[in-house]
Amino acid sequence: MSSEKVDVLVIGAGPSGAVAASIIHKHGLKVKVVEKLKFPRFVIGESLLPRCMEALEEAELLEAVKAKGFQQKSGAKFVKDGKICDFNFSNQFTQGWTWTWQVPRADFDKTLTDEMERKGIPVLFETGVTDIKFNGSDSITTIEDKDGNKSTIEARFIVDASGYGRVIPKLFNLDQPSNLPARRTLFAHTVDVNRFVDEEPNRITIVSHEPGVWIWIIPFSNGNTSVGFVGDTQFFDRFTGTPEERFRAMIKTQPHTQRRFDGVDFVFEPRTLEGWSVTTNKFYGDGFVLTGNVTEFLDPIFSSGVTLATVSGATAANLVVKKLKGQSVDWEKEFMEPTMQGVNTFRSYVMGWYDGTLQDIFFAPKPDDEIKKQICSVLAGYVWDLNNPFVKKHDRVIKNLSHLIRLEEGAS
Ligand code: FAD
Repeated sequence: MSSEKVDVLVIGAGPSGAVAASIIHKHGLKVKVVEKLKFPRFVIGESLLPRCMEALEEAELLEAVKAKGFQQKSGAKFVKDGKICDFNFSNQFTQGWTWTWQVPRADFDKTLTDEMERKGIPVLFETGVTDIKFNGSDSITTIEDKDGNKSTIEARFIVDASGYGRVIPKLFNLDQPSNLPARRTLFAHTVDVNRFVDEEPNRITIVSHEPGVWIWIIPFSNGNTSVGFVGDTQFFDRFTGTPEERFRAMIKTQPHTQRRFDGVDFVFEPRTLEGWSVTTNKFYGDGFVLTGNVTEFLDPIFSSGVTLATVSGATAANLVVKKLKGQSVDWEKEFMEPTMQGVNTFRSYVMGWYDGTLQDIFFAPKPDDEIKKQICSVLAGYVWDLNNPFVKKHDRVIKNLSHLIRLEEGAS
């Protein structure tokens, strides 16, 4: 069995692995990426947040993405019973990026890996990690290519960015159930012949459908639009037939989607996913760090996945460089705490969306401009700005404000 030595092995070539590997390479360490699939490959997660632009910039991947002409996104629009709450990222509390992109992920992720290879970072596609043995912080990883050939990689450190593959949590039994209930999605890319060109496409539209159910509408620059229903499994159980029949029936249940997507062609047969919320009790250990979806993935409602993936990838990469250059790293303080700060802030908003308290605020009859700016920064991914009361007190502020709005509505 052949063997190779590197400083850092990165498992997975999604956005988290790409950002981590690029930053480690930029600092002169020998890094290798191992990716189970052949790219381009389909993955869901198409609406980015402005905060991820900073991570892409630090990884020197931003220019390559800019050159692709993806659909620019400058806000998020929430729709419920004919009411609209529109957030424009140029009108937010935190200083930062005011726009980002909406991307077919197959193309976006391929752009990142092409750019990594152009920089001289080796990416081994169609090769999966099957086993890891740690000896202190050093490790020997067994990998297997699509033809069943096995080899090993000796590394001084491992970044596990394997997304839903969850390589290290699965190998070392670190997985924990999430505190969010299992939800389901049915989604497709549509040929968007009825696009509302005056209101879009520079927005994600989220339609609040019925309690516990919502719909994403994400237009791309290629004329297609991603549409997905998300919610409690009981909602989906009401529909029968093939995925296409069920999806077409769902589209008819909502006036907004019926007007726009009834009878349109689909780019692929609608796909389903279920029960994506999962976490681990430990995001680091001797010789490894977990990034992106391997840490904790909550829910797609606020498009936080790629932002948390790229930011945790960048944070981890800088700490790995620090450690391998001989400095000490406090992983709990420098990695776990900031990562959980981001995850927990979004968790409060996800829970507030599903229990209706956040929707009270979004669709309040008299919205407060200052509050809207502060919430807008959270929706732009600036969930580490503790000067923002809607970040700092995320666990209380939504409930308190919704309570006030309900009292005011009751009094009027
Ligand atoms: P991934 O992008 O999943 O990349 C991980 C890579 O690791 C994969 O390419 C995989 O093949 C590889 N891998 C797995 N196992 C192995 C192995 N054994 N060996 C080697 N390689 C391996 N996020 C957003 O930002 N915006 C959205 O609008 C959004 N919508 C979503 C909708 C739904 C329904 C769901 C479920 C998620 C959504 N997300 C969204 C979340 C988004 O999909 C993820 O957060 C994001 O892709 C995480 O990036 P990553 O780099 O951590 O992992």
